Amino acid sequence: MRSCHIWIFNIGRGFASVIRTPNNKWIMIDLGANDKFNPVNDFMVPCFKYLCMEKRQDKKYQISQLIITHPHDDHLSAINDFNRAFYPSLFTVQNDLDHPAQSNESKINWDLITNPSSDLTDYLRKEMLPGRQPPLRATDEDKSEGFVFQIYHLKPSTCENDKELLRANYSNNVSIMVRLNYNGNVILFCGDMMKDGMSKIISGNAALKNALSNYGVDFLVAPHHGLRSSFSTELFATMKNGRTRALNIISEKPTNKDSNEIVDTRYESKDYSGGHQVIVDGWPEQKRHLKTSASGHIRIDLFQNKRAVVVSGKSALKIP
Ligand SMILES: [Zn+2]
Repeated sequence: MRSCHIWIFNIGRGFASVIRTPNNKWIMIDLGANDKFNPVNDFMVPCFKYLCMEKRQDKKYQISQLIITHPHDDHLSAINDFNRAFYPSLFTVQNDLDHPAQSNESKINWDLITNPSSDLTDYLRKEMLPGRQPPLRATDEDKSEGFVFQIYHLKPSTCENDKELLRANYSNNVSIMVRLNYNGNVILFCGDMMKDGMSKIISGNAALKNALSNYGVDFLVAPHHGLRSSFSTELFATMKNGRTRALNIISEKPTNKDSNEIVDTRYESKDYSGGHQVIVDGWPEQKRHLKTSASGHIRIDLFQNKRAVVVSGKSALKIP
């Protein structure tokens, strides 16, 4: 039976995720990493070796798509490692490349991107972007029946010209959102979209709005690491059933206690999540939300017959 697998890694601070499509194509969303875990060196390279995947002439492995939701350091840490070992057929990140298919209003303003240092964004711009082809789109390399893969984003100019969006955080609001639907199981990755950006994209993007209201969401990868400032009641109000059908997933970004930047507890409430069984270290538990900081790595297995299995902890890293 065909299946689709999604890994969301525990990297302490930031985000990194991998998708293996039903036809064994590979997609990476973000490249966060920390001292304890690097999604490229500790997962992708060993995984491709284990599967005896062939290398290209330049000795790199090929994947279908790399999506960098937005160029913040906590989503980019492993970018050098990635570039050394992998080549993405499609490389998708907001950019300022000149291309006839990309209008000026779609170009990112790098001056508005805030990071502690410019090392990683410089690497992205100088080593990875030259020679690549915008515009932004989702890979269509896997045409398996029942597999739908889409991306959504606000135009950078929209975030720059709207004072509220600009103030809320330009870099976060240009996030690329990713939606995967395999035979009715929907996963929505929200990047670091802020509350205002989420309202704007839902009201302005009919495709996203319709997808949310017609199909709902089973697994929500919460916007901006689940932080309170990005909790969007509008997102839940728009989605079918008014809450996530299975689980809210939080790739946590620890912050100090006095800050308002703490994980929103509404993600664990029955008002916002229907709940789903999770296999934690071999034992089934009923959960409404999962935090990588508490549960470790997460793997979601979606099967052709609509069954979804969620595994957390060390065994989540296994290749099914
Ligand atoms: Zn982030």
